This record gives sequence, C-alpha cells and structure tokens, in this order.
Amino acid sequence: MSELIRKNASELVELLGKGEISSVELTQAHLDRSMAVDHDVHSYLHQDASTALSAAADIDRRRAAGEKLHLLAGLPIAVKDNLTTTDAPTTSGSKILEGWVPPYDATVVKRIRAAGLPILGKTNLDEFAMGSSTEFSAFGPSRNPWDLTRIPGGSGGGSSSVVASFQAPVAIGSDTGGSIRFPASVTGTVGNKPTYGAVSRYGLIALASSLDQVGPVSRNVLDSALIQDLIAGHDPHDSTSLPESLGSMADAARKLDVKGMRIGVIKELMGEGFQPGVMNRFKESVNLLQQAGAEIVEVSCPNFEYAIAAYYLILPAEASSNLAKFDSVRFGLRVAPEGNPTIERVMAATREAGFGPEVKRRIILGTYALSSGSYEHFYGAALKVRTLIQRDFAAAFEKADVLISPTAPTTAFKIGEKLEDPLAMYLNDIATIPANLAGIPGMSVPNGLADEDGLPVGIQLLAPAREDARLYQVGAALEKMHEDIWGKRMIDFAPELEVRG
Ligand code: GLN
Repeated sequence: MSELIRKNASELVELLGKGEISSVELTQAHLDRSMAVDHDVHSYLHQDASTALSAAADIDRRRAAGEKLHLLAGLPIAVKDNLTTTDAPTTSGSKILEGWVPPYDATVVKRIRAAGLPILGKTNLDEFAMGSSTEFSAFGPSRNPWDLTRIPGGSGGGSSSVVASFQAPVAIGSDTGGSIRFPASVTGTVGNKPTYGAVSRYGLIALASSLDQVGPVSRNVLDSALIQDLIAGHDPHDSTSLPESLGSMADAARKLDVKGMRIGVIKELMGEGFQPGVMNRFKESVNLLQQAGAEIVEVSCPNFEYAIAAYYLILPAEASSNLAKFDSVRFGLRVAPEGNPTIERVMAATREAGFGPEVKRRIILGTYALSSGSYEHFYGAALKVRTLIQRDFAAAFEKADVLISPTAPTTAFKIGEKLEDPLAMYLNDIATIPANLAGIPGMSVPNGLADEDGLPVGIQLLAPAREDARLYQVGAALEKMHEDIWGKRMIDFAPELEVRG
C-alpha cells in the first residue's frame, strides 16, 4: 500500500503546499486503494475516477501557476450519499432515489469544491440515514475494516469505513442520533457532530430536521478540526444556520492542554448494558485526563433514561413528513401499479417498492404519532422529555466544562446480529442521542481496544452549544496521551486488508 494514504490529512496538506506531492498523485493513490479493497469493504455507492482526477489536476495547475490556494486544496475527501452533488447520483441509500442526479450542490459540497478538494466518491449509508449498521442500505451493507464480518456502524458506515480502510483521508457524515459518532467509535476513527446550526444542512436530504447535523470523520482530531473549519459558517440558504462563527477548531486542537478543565463523567451512561472492555478503557482515560491536570467531577442526567423513547417519537414524526415528498412525481423511481394508474395508486406502488422495511416502520410510527387523536399524547410528551434532557445538560454544564461517556455500549457487532430486532439496534445510540435532542456538539475519539474482542472502543466528549472548540481541545489532548502510550495511532493497530484486483 502506498505510504501516502496512511498519512493524516494535516501532513498531506503540508506536502501538497510544499509541492512535494501533487493532488493527482494523492487522489490516484486513494482511487487505487479503493480498487484493491472496496469490493470487500463496500464504503462507496458511487465513484467516478475521472471527475476526481480532473478536480485534482485543476488544483495542481493552479498551484503551479502560483495562485494562492486554500490550506486544504488538493486533499481528496469522501462525501456521504445524502448530500446532493450535481456531478454524481445522490441516493441516500434508497431505491426510491436510484439514478437521481440533483440539480444543485449541497452548501457543504460547494465549500469543498471551492476550496479545491477532489471528491473521491459518495459513501454508503442506511436508507435515509435510518439505522446503526448500514445494513438498511438498499445497496447492501458496508463492512468494518477491523473485521469484515462486522458492521462499521451506521448510518454513516460508508464514511467511517472509507477512512478506516485508508480509501480517503477524511470524509463527511451526518448525525441525527449518532450516525457520525457511533461509526467512528466502532472503526477506531474520529467523528464529530457540531453544534446544531454550525454547519449548513442545505442539500442534506433531511431525516429529522430538528436533529440533523453535518460533520467530519477522520483518523485524528486535528484533521476533523480542519474539515469542520472548512464546512462550518453561516449559510443564508439554511434558516437554522447560526449567524456567528464558532472560532477555529484547528487552533483548539493544537493546544494539547486540559489543565484546570472540569470534566464531568455522566453517571447514567456507564455500568449496566456497557461491555466490560468498553468500561475499562473509559476508566483508564478518565485517569489519564485527571493525571494531565483536569478536574474530574461526577454529574447526573436522570432524564437520559427517556431519551431513546422520545427520540423514536420525534424522529419518525419529522421523518414521515420529510419523506412525503418522495411521491413518484418529483424524484427518482416511478412504479406502474396493477390496474388503473390513478395518481394515488402510482404513489402507493412507488413507495411500496421504493422504501425498505426500516423506513416504512418509521413512516408508520411517525404518521401515527402525529395523528390528531395521538398528537399530544405521543409527540407532545416526547417534546416535554426533550426539554427535560436539555435541563439535565444545563445543570451538568454548571459543574463541568466538558462531559464524557463511552460513545457506545459495545464494540462492532456481527452483520445480521441485530437486523431482526429493531429495539436492540436502537439501543446502540443510548449515549449519542441526548446531544441531538439538546442541539449540543459531540465527538467520538478512539479510546483503545476492548479486552474481550480486540475491537475499537470510542470515548464521547460533549460540550455546551457553540463550545465545539472545547471538544477539539480535550479530544486532541487525550489522543496525544494515548499515542504517547501506544507509540502509534489507534488506526495503526487495524489488521491489513487483503488486497485484490
Ligand atoms: N441510529 C440512529 C437512527 O437509526 C441514528 C441515525 C442518524 O444519526 N442518522 O435513527
């Protein structure tokens, strides 16, 4: 394998800047890697080498001409397939959008292109980002590079596995209940869900609009910071976009200092239901942070117990109305019904054929939760719980600057293991969902390997809204402590993939 593709993005942009490597060479190395491993990993739903290489060649030409370029110019990147791209199909993992090529670029994609980052391809996801494993993708699951019989997390398992298998140095994901952080946790990568509104969702195919955020995936904290700095910032096309800048995440990631920081351990997110190896690594990191001068405090968030229940009313309610637009008229698939093709019957036949089982389950649940007799009882009650969770966070952040917990209760499970049991699948997100309900930022950082199975474990950091920089500061400091102990990055413990093709 080319040594180039193992490097962090921060090193690659330096080499590009000094002219020691070209973007074409770097992009080609990643495309070669995909040719060699992606038939096993299946990170991508769509790749087009010629578009990526011509974007790379354009940057090389402009650099050679002495043009002043963006810091990240020439760095290739992969994008989750629920962000619209004018030069590639955008399916959101669904048959109902198969073959649809959007008429506009998502704002995040626009910023990526304007800065001169070649897009390597569109990554796999659970259909409409509903799931924790990519097994609900209509185009087949992605696999975990640490063990190909296991899930790479979801919904953004394409973006986590693409980075973990060295097919891309960085990727973009989206997180509605944990879809950036859970995949990062089980693949030994870094994933960050920014503050709600920090990154534009214009051109993100909406799942649940009050919860969705776009964010970075990478192999180290600084690289995620560089990407967040690129994609964040006000966007007039997104009415929920924050007007102000949250500062430089890269500067925060370079501080490497946690002295005097108050770090709160969330009592409710440990113990029962959490795998022993996950808890062991978590406790070790708490000790490391303490030794580095952080003050460790215990905080209690009693209403987190109801977070999953509230989420699975709010999310389906919002999703059922967001997905109503897939009606056979405006986008993608159209199926002819048997008998008389009235508009209603065409719609019904198309939605029956175009949506998978998890999407149908949630549309039914959401429609019911919003129906006139049940609205107050279900949706209204869930909104009250959401407020209580926000208050839990507010109280916890009085005592602590940053909160920590394991990102997920377990390491990566086997493909197929939870497919028939929706509730077991939903429980993976127990630690990640509260941040979406409260709109606060959350990051998953590699936290060692579990004793039982040798698989990656993640630690989650949470900060108050708009304080994303704290996550990068603590995350990078903890990562440095780990790398000093291990003598290498966590991703360097991953087994070599068999190269074919
Ligand atoms: N696993 C969660 C769900 O199925 C989270 C999804 C997400 O963040 N997009 O809803």
